[in-house]
Amino acid sequence: LEDNVRKAEAYLDAIRARGILNRIGGEDRPAIGGETFDTISPVDLKPLARVARGGERDIAAAAKAAKAAQPGWTATGGAKRREVLHAIADAIEENAEEIAFMECLDTGQAVRFMAKAALRGAENFRYFADRAPGARNGLSLPAKGQANITTRVPVGPVGVITPWNTPFMLSTWKIAPALAAGCTVVHKPAEFSPITASLLVRIAEKAGLPPGVWNTVNGFGEDAGAELTRHPDIKAIAFVGESRTGSMIMKQAADTLKRFHFELGGKNPVIVFKDADLERAADAVLFMIYSLNGERCTSSSRLLVDAEIADRFLAKLAERVRAIRVGHPLDPETVVGPLIHPVHEKKVLDYIEIGRQEGAVVAAGGTRYEGPGGGCYVAPTLFTGADNRMRIAQEEIFGPVLTAIAFHSEDEAVALANDTEYGLAAYLWTSDVTRAFRVSEQIEAGMIWVNSENVRHLDTPFGGVKASGMGRDGGDWSFDFYMETKNVSFAT
Ligand code: NAD
Repeated sequence: LEDNVRKAEAYLDAIRARGILNRIGGEDRPAIGGETFDTISPVDLKPLARVARGGERDIAAAAKAAKAAQPGWTATGGAKRREVLHAIADAIEENAEEIAFMECLDTGQAVRFMAKAALRGAENFRYFADRAPGARNGLSLPAKGQANITTRVPVGPVGVITPWNTPFMLSTWKIAPALAAGCTVVHKPAEFSPITASLLVRIAEKAGLPPGVWNTVNGFGEDAGAELTRHPDIKAIAFVGESRTGSMIMKQAADTLKRFHFELGGKNPVIVFKDADLERAADAVLFMIYSLNGERCTSSSRLLVDAEIADRFLAKLAERVRAIRVGHPLDPETVVGPLIHPVHEKKVLDYIEIGRQEGAVVAAGGTRYEGPGGGCYVAPTLFTGADNRMRIAQEEIFGPVLTAIAFHSEDEAVALANDTEYGLAAYLWTSDVTRAFRVSEQIEAGMIWVNSENVRHLDTPFGGVKASGMGRDGGDWSFDFYMETKNVSFAT
């Protein structure tokens, strides 16, 4: 730990020295009005770095730079874009330690997960790099008297707005396909955790990305974020964040007729049937809610467990929850670090209180945790004896809090799983393959994992239904969003 803290301080000193500025047209720029804000450490609440607080004029400058760079980047062609994106991936790998350590300090996420998240970021660039040459590939659709050539072109400059939970990985996940498709980008990172976004754009330009292709404007959602969604030269908004913010963005952007891609909140069920491999299921249940501090859109925050095995399963689970290592995010032993910010810590603790008042039983945790630095630590918490109508079963808590509910039949399990406004992910544990198919068919979710935790294959579609989002990322789905389909019809 001491070694990691020492190294992190050295990285941070360099960042503090230059401050976190906006990056527009290949230049570091303070906010035009000179305003700044501090990003704070969730470990001890001390300021980490001073950040430019962008607004309308900064967004206008960034949109102008992105618009100016658009024709050149389109003309660059897929093969060259492939080369540049691979160079960015190489550079991310070279800087992976700095990225991981800064992500830990800025978000409170544990280094054991952030080290992998940094490399996942490089993988995202490599995957879309290899697809860049084929992004325009179209179809030939012959018809009577006409020959049709259907192809795709970049939609134009796009706005990317990201949340604070795993900001580096999520930024790469949205920006890599946009660049591969030939779009230029204005990125507005989350105000709670802006550090790694500022590293990322610099890394990309050093690796050969032309100036203006990728611009980053820091600031708050209600000013920089909202201005980005309203700007007429921004043709699409790729947004990851809360469901209610998604709906605000639709309203804000309505006058400029943008296309949207929304990855929003979740209240994802994990259903454990009595015929499941219960050891594996328990491992996955723990991992999918307590890793990444529970601050994860695909976390399985509702456990639906067969009543016949519930007592035994939950008793064992509670024991394991109590044993989870909470600690400093840079400690390699830590599983759960401090939550992002005192505001979020309060939200999570308030939900724990609500759960108690609603009559659920606190089987583990249920309190703040006195961690190193005295920051925003919350003990991993398990509620049992809950009812699906309780707020702790319906609302996204986005912390290390699991709500367990027993079910008595397969039909009841399905009904409970679907009884939520969200529909991002679901997890099923059963050894009966027919049941797995039957239940998956009925579950209202964009992604279902059977006998597995969340494992991502970049070829597969990622996204949610209901209040969890619209549109899909991954494979060609990402290009469908970042590109317009165009048909040219020839008389024959
Ligand atoms: P948030 O909606 O508060 O903020 C996300 C981003 O939107 C931030 O950059 C913020 O500044 C910006 N923003 C806020 N108001 C805005 C406005 N009016 N106009 C434009 N931009 C605005 O979300 P958060 O609290 O940062 O992140 C947590 C949420 O993100 C959770 O709901 C989580 O489930 C969701 N999430 C979803 C996915 C997914 O893939 N579905 C992945 C990660 C996180």
